[in-house]
Parts: sequence; structure tokens; C-alpha cells
Amino acid sequence: MDGWASPQPSPACLLLLPPDRSEKRESLIWLHPECHSPKPASLPHVCAVGLDTRRLGCGHGEQRIGTRPVTVDMNMITFFIVGLGVHVVFFISIFDIYFTSPLVHGMSPQRVPLPPPARRLVLFVADGLRADTLFKPAANGTISAPYIRRIMEEKGSWGVSHTHVPTESRPGHVALIAGFYEDVSAVAKGWKENPVEFDSVFNESRHTWCWGSPDILPMFAKGASGDHVYTHTYSTEDQDFASTDASKLDTWVFDKVKDFASTDASKLDTWVFDKVKAFFREARGNDTLLSKLRGDHLVFFLHLLGIDTNGHAHRPMSREYFENVGLVDAGVEEMVSVFEDFFDSDGRTAFVFTSDHGMTNWGTHGAGHPSETLTPLVAWGAGVQTAQRVTSQNFEDQFLQEWNLETLRRVDVSQADIAPLMSSLIGVPIPLNSVGVLPLQYLDNTKLFHAESMYANAVQVLEQFKVKMAQKKETTLSFLFTPYPLLTESNQLDFVRRVRSLIEQGSHDEAIDLCDGMIAEALRGLSYYHTYDRFFLGASVVLGFCGWTSYVVVVILKTHAGLRKPPSPRDLASARSLGRVFLCVGAVISVFLLLQSSPWTHYVYCLLPVPVWYSVFKEFGTVADLIRSAPSLPLSRCLGYFAVVILGIELLVVSFFYRGMLTLGLVVLSGWPIASQLYTQAKVRSLSWVLGCLCLALFPLMPVVGREPNVHLVTCAGVLTLLSTACFMWLSWRRSPLHWRDWRLSVSQMVHVALCAYVLNSTHSSLKLKQGLPIFNQIVSWTTLASSLVVPLLSSTRLFQRLMSILLSLVCTYLLLSTGYEALFPPVLGWLMFVWINIEQEAMHTQGVSTNLELAHIDFSENIDITKIRQLSLDDIRRSYFFVFFIITAFFGTGNIASINSFDPASVYCFLTVFHPFIMGALMMWKVLIPFVIVMCTFETILVSTHLSSRSLFLIVLVISDLMALHFFFLVKDYGSWLDIGTSISHYVIVMSMTIFLMVLSIVSHVLTSRRIHVGWRRKTHFT
Ligand SMILES: [Zn+2]
Ligand SMILES: [Zn+2]
Repeated sequence: MDGWASPQPSPACLLLLPPDRSEKRESLIWLHPECHSPKPASLPHVCAVGLDTRRLGCGHGEQRIGTRPVTVDMNMITFFIVGLGVHVVFFISIFDIYFTSPLVHGMSPQRVPLPPPARRLVLFVADGLRADTLFKPAANGTISAPYIRRIMEEKGSWGVSHTHVPTESRPGHVALIAGFYEDVSAVAKGWKENPVEFDSVFNESRHTWCWGSPDILPMFAKGASGDHVYTHTYSTEDQDFASTDASKLDTWVFDKVKDFASTDASKLDTWVFDKVKAFFREARGNDTLLSKLRGDHLVFFLHLLGIDTNGHAHRPMSREYFENVGLVDAGVEEMVSVFEDFFDSDGRTAFVFTSDHGMTNWGTHGAGHPSETLTPLVAWGAGVQTAQRVTSQNFEDQFLQEWNLETLRRVDVSQADIAPLMSSLIGVPIPLNSVGVLPLQYLDNTKLFHAESMYANAVQVLEQFKVKMAQKKETTLSFLFTPYPLLTESNQLDFVRRVRSLIEQGSHDEAIDLCDGMIAEALRGLSYYHTYDRFFLGASVVLGFCGWTSYVVVVILKTHAGLRKPPSPRDLASARSLGRVFLCVGAVISVFLLLQSSPWTHYVYCLLPVPVWYSVFKEFGTVADLIRSAPSLPLSRCLGYFAVVILGIELLVVSFFYRGMLTLGLVVLSGWPIASQLYTQAKVRSLSWVLGCLCLALFPLMPVVGREPNVHLVTCAGVLTLLSTACFMWLSWRRSPLHWRDWRLSVSQMVHVALCAYVLNSTHSSLKLKQGLPIFNQIVSWTTLASSLVVPLLSSTRLFQRLMSILLSLVCTYLLLSTGYEALFPPVLGWLMFVWINIEQEAMHTQGVSTNLELAHIDFSENIDITKIRQLSLDDIRRSYFFVFFIITAFFGTGNIASINSFDPASVYCFLTVFHPFIMGALMMWKVLIPFVIVMCTFETILVSTHLSSRSLFLIVLVISDLMALHFFFLVKDYGSWLDIGTSISHYVIVMSMTIFLMVLSIVSHVLTSRRIHVGWRRKTHFT
């Protein structure tokens, strides 16, 4: 290595090898202008490759040849475009593999041949009502909903209804009313229109009248066949004041936060109650309406949005939320009397009260926290079992004691079970796509009715299974089709015969058990066929993924090895035959897919691995050569290294689920100087490293959401930044005096930090006094934001001067966007990054790589001495890994953007206090990005100071993130539990976009470190 690390003037300076040897190499041989002699064969070559826009110099004293611009070679551009394409395909594939609509069509409705207990059903949905808010008595013993409590204790049945993620209004209502869990692909379609047609209880009813939000009602009216679902929604002005917008997921925290202080969201509920009263008053004088109302199979649906809106605006622990629950309770009582009056208390009305989803303590919903997935269910009236006293009940949770309901029988259901319950009460067929199981314990009816209802339920689910199987059979080659073994045709016939005979014999309980078992089996069979192609598609995508990663590894090895042996004719011949083989494979796959009449996306997933693996195999000879010719690396050491890296990657994967793992990782990292014996050479730096890691390790342990703002911590962060900057300036002043201009800039930046800390304090105290946001503060905030990426460009390009300027500038913005401990994150991260740069330099020394420049004297804008660009070593894998690790830490250190729940509107109060989702979202995004930029700039510095080309290291980063993405591909969940579907998708998305994102960021950080704006008259001077 020394041969080129300390350059001697040589006739030909360097040779740049393109990654692909088949390219014309002549164009890339760079000669010193003064030494045109041909390149001697023995010259140590240098592989300087990269997206570097930096000029390259040869190190020949003062003369630099780097005046010719380095053209980013075409190969590299193709490489990145192909890489981008491959990643996009991998990303989209999860929607085809995991999230396809489960719905099938063509089933026939199943009726129960017995008269139903109720002629009409009233469904109350209190949007966003948590189970515990309704059931739990307050500390002083008062109940938020006394009327509903009375019903539970006297004449109704109750339980907890468990919803699925995403806990949103639309999927919640679909589960309640249509009985199935909407697939996540609906997310992509915006929730607004019906992505697929579906049947519902409303559709099966004779007439349904709905009152409520314009976001929910139309989808059921639209899905219904014929003209029998009547909707009454708020007028435009009312909508305005409710400011609901279902076209977006309403988890968006800011949604609906608009100026609620002045208006009262519970008006939404009053509106519904008033409309219902008016409706019945009008009905008395309207004969057509009256005759409709006298009929049976009727549904009345009251959608009460006020609780949800108040929950978003004031959070569920607020007085407003509780008062709204009280208002709904009184409204329900009034409604019941309206119905009883109108129908002369004929005892044929059934009532169901529930909610579509709950809400977290901080006023959001969408994820799988118990506060979001547990909703109340209370049913009473015709056909519903009255309150049952029990002595003991077995539930794993402690709610019964908390709610003081130990002696009242509790029957829990899945949200989709409510649809069959409602169908059964009014005697309409269960919605065709329902996967719900009738909760018999809610019914007060004969055993015969129970058995017949369960039988209808079982046949209805079985119908879906049959249709699904027929569909799959049609599109699969017959010799490849494996039917679901536990539900053959004879099994099904047998089941029908046995249930019928059991019912005839009067063994109703046995019949019910049999039906129960059949429903479970049919549901398993449904999911079997639904996921039938999953293995095949998944395997293709994984094959493509592995191929791509192998290809990147091959590219790294090739650039690293820089083999110069031209391809022999034998190689060319074998490459040609290899091409033919892969062409055949591609043709076979296409024919196969054609026979199965697969959709075009399947062609993409299945054919993609072919060219990718072809490229890998084509290079196989080169790699084999390389391995043979590189005995310098002991295999055991390499393997050990890889084992450690794989373990590290695992740790990163787990940290996506448990942020605490980052703490563990940082603690392990803090031991690095000791493990690598750097400690003996650089005691102070090692100690700072350990301290920095341990301080940073505290952040992932802090709570992300639901914490109170703490402005004092933000002030602390400002003071900490100022102190450490002052220390650093004093130290560097003693070593080499600063130019007065840089001095002036640094001081003004420090003043700026102090100003921002002050602005934050004054904004919060002013808001606390309800005096609004002072205009001065707003101006300062926006100016800080706008200047944050420009000011560093004014500073000196000397390494630490520039880095400090970037850090100060970013910290200013971050302080303004902080509300608590997270403000300390950038200063601590900045400190650790500073130590990292220093310690990497030390690591270079210990490896015997001579560096004749001292860190403090490195200038970002200087030409890179190309003779010093070194080859990759095993240690660079560690550097890349550190980088990925710190990027992930920057991501999850203070929050978890994988969960939308972690946004706190309070953090943008310095900029605006009026509801504006896009600006707020952009500001939050920038807050998330700031730690990224810090890490990225550090990485850029390390590339410069350790003489590495950015591309080689970037390729290693690519391999690491691809390995992580592969992991998350397997971890994508399509079923809802607390293991959130949304989180699993966003993990995958985060890792996938990370690579693309890093590319963009690396350009930003390159510009941020190396460019300088010169203001005024001064000529450009370089520090030498
Ligand atoms: Zn809702
Ligand atoms: Zn909501």
C-alpha cells in the first residue's frame, strides 16, 4: 500500500478503471500534462471511482491535473437507474403479494327460515369512543354515560369489540356494517371511493336511514343496490366547521385540530339527534314514509362524530371529550324514547351501541394500541339477551375490576361479528363478504333459532370459500393445483347432512358446535386460497433481491480488485452460451405465466431475477479469479468480520421494533476503541467516544409520544451548544488563529442560537398566557429556517470550521421545532460525530496508512489527491456499518416516524399556530431530517479524511440496507393485531427509500461542506 500512499513523481500518474472492463479504457486513462509517456505495466493502479464531483489531483506538487472534470461514467448512471428500478419493483411487489382484496363475488344470500325477533334496528356509532371512557367510573365514582350503564346493568348485553388495524373510521365502519376487514390496498386508493363493491347489512335491509358525517355514509349508500339507503349528512357549512376530510387518513394528527377552541364539536352529535327527531315528526304526516316505517327489516344508523372530533382537538382525557360522551349518552336516551313513542313501544326494536375505533391518550388513532383497538359494544331491545349476573369471569385483562363490572357477564366480540349480530336481529341475510361469527350469547331466542342462525352463518362463509377455490382453480394449471385438504367437496356435503339431521333431532348444541368448527375451517381455507400465490411470488422477489445484492457485491469486488486482464475468447464464448441459457429460462417462465393467465405484474416479478442473475453469473469468472489471487486476506478473519456485520444488521432490524435496541447497540459501539486497541494510542478521544455513545444511548429510552412539553430542556440544549462551541473555538484559536471574517460568523451564529432559545421560550410563555404568537418570534423563526442551509456556505471550508457552522445552523432550527428533551439530541449527536471523525483518523494511523495532513487543516474545497485514494479494506465495511447505524439512530433516536402518532403539533408553534397540514407536515419532516444531515456531513468528512472514494463506500451501504430490506420484506404483515400492518409496511418503505434518500442527501451534504459563497469584495483565498 505504501507504494502509492506516498507518491513519487512518476511518468504516468494514474489509471482509472471503469467498473466494466468491456468499456473503452483509453478514455479513462489520465495522463499528467507534462508526462505523456505510456503507462508502465508495473505501475500501481488506483481505482478512483465515484459520484464525486470533486476535482481530482495527482499529487504532483503544486501542479494539479485535476482541471479536467471527472465525468461520471455512463456505467455508473445506468447502474443507479437500474438500481432505482429494481428497488421500485421490490417496493410495489408487497402490494401484490400481501395486500390484495380478499373479496369475491357470486355467492348467494342465506336466510334463516324463522321469524326474526326485531322488525327494526337502531345502530349508534360513537366515532372514536374508547371502551374505557364509556365503562370506567371516574375517581369520584361518577359514570360518563349513566344511561348506557343502566342498560348494561338491567336489560342489555355488553362486551368489548376488538377492532383491527388500521383503526380508522372507514375500515371500522366496513367491519361493523359489512362484516369484513378491509384490505390495506384500500389505503392506496384513498378510502374515499369504494375500491371494491361489497354487500352490507344496509344493503340487505328493506330500508335504511342514516344520519351523520358525509365521509362515512355515502360509501354504504353507494355500495347498496337499488334505492333503499337514505343518507342525511351535514350541510357544507357544518362540514366546514367540523373540518373533517376523509380523503386523508384521519390519523393525521392535525386533521380536525382547526380552531376547535372556538367551536364545539359536540354540535355534530346534537345535529344528528335533532335531525332524527325532525324525521319522525315529519313521518307522522307523510303516508309513503309512514308505510315504509311500518315495515320490517329496517335499519336506522346514527353516526356520531363529535367524540372523535373532540378527542382529536382536546385529547381523550379532556373535559370536552367526557362531556361529549355525556351528551351522546343523553342523546341515546332521548332517541330510544323517540323510537318507543313512534312505534308505540311494540317491543320490536333492537338497539346496538358501539364505536368504530378508540383513540390514544394523545388524540390519534390508526395504529394498534389497545386504547385504539378496544371499543365498547352494548346491545339491548328486541331479541337481545338481558343483563346476566355471574359470580366469576375469566379475562386476561384487568378491566372488569377497573370498570367495576365483575358481576355483569361480559361477551367480547371481533368487530366484524357485529354485522351477523345485526343481520340476525332483524332477519336479513348476513352480508355476503362477511367473515364475522354470530355472537350467540347476545341473542335471547330459542335454541332452534340459534342453531339455524349458526347454520346460515356457516353456509354463508362456506359459499365464499367455494367461490374463491373455483377462481383459483381456473387460473392454475391443473397438475399444479393443490386444493385445501381439510375442506373437500365430500367434507362439505357431509357437514350439511350432519347439521340438518342434528337440528331435526333437536340436538341444537351439537349442531352449533359443528357450525362453529366449519366456520373456522372455511375461514382458514379462504385465507389459504387468498395467499395461494404468495409463496411463489415471494420467492421470485426474494430471488431478485438476492441477485441484486450479489451483483452489487460483485461490482464492489471488481472495482476493488481492478483486474486488468482482458477477457479471453474462451470467456466470451462461455458468456454467449450463458446468455442463451438465461434467455431460455426467461422464455420458459413467460410461457408458464401465459398458461396461468397471470396479470402483467407477475411477469415483472418473475422475470426480473433472470437478467439480474445473468449479470452475476457473467462475472463469476472474474470473482473466482479474484478470490484465487487474493490470498492476502485470511478467510477466517473475513468470515469473522462478516459474522459481526450480520449480527449488527440484525440488531438494526430489531431496533425498528424496539427502539431500546439502539441503546444496546450504542453501548456495544462505545466499546469499540477498547476492542480495537485504539484506546492505547488515543486515550482522550476514546474516552470522549465512550461518553458520547453512552449519552446518545439515553435518547432511545425516552418516550416518543404522550409527553408534556418542557421548554427548560430546550434552553439547556441551547446553553450546551453554546458552551461546547465556545470551548471548541477557544481550543482551535490557540492552535491556529481564525480569520476575522470566520470569527465574526461564528460569533454571530452563537448569538443566533441564543436568540432561537429565547424565541422558543417567549413563544411558549406567550401562548400559555393566550396572547398568541408574537410576530417578532414568527419572523425570527422563518428567517432561521430559510437561512439554515445558506449560512454554513458563508463559513470557511476548513474541516472543523465548516462542520461547526453547519451544526450551529441546524441546531438553531431544531431548537425552534423542539418541545422537550429531543432538543438535546443534535448537540449530543454532533459531539459524537466530532469524536468519530477524530477517532477514524486515529484508526487510519494505527493501520499504517500515513496521512500527512492534520485533520484541522483539511479543506473541503481542496482537490482530492487522487494518488491517495486507497483501495477498500475490511475496515471500510465497519465504517459503512457505523454510518448506517448512526443514520438509523438519527431516525429513531427521538421519535419513530414509522408511527404517525408521534407528531406533536406543539412543536411547530414558533412558526404557525393556525392549522395548516402541509406546512406543518413539511416542518416536521425537516425536523426529522436535521439529524440525518448531521450524520451525512460527518460521513462526507470521513470519506475525505480517510481518502476513500464515495462510491465504493456507498455500494457497501447499499448492500447493508438491501439486506435489511430483505428482512423487512419477510416481516411485512397483512393481518392485524398489535403487530401493526402499517408499521410493517412503513418499515419496509423506510429501508427501501433510505438508499435512494441517502444518495440525494449525500449530494446535499457534499455541497454543504465543499461550496462557499463569497460575499463582498474579498477574493477567494484558500487556506494552505
Ligand atoms: Zn372514526
Ligand atoms: Zn378520527
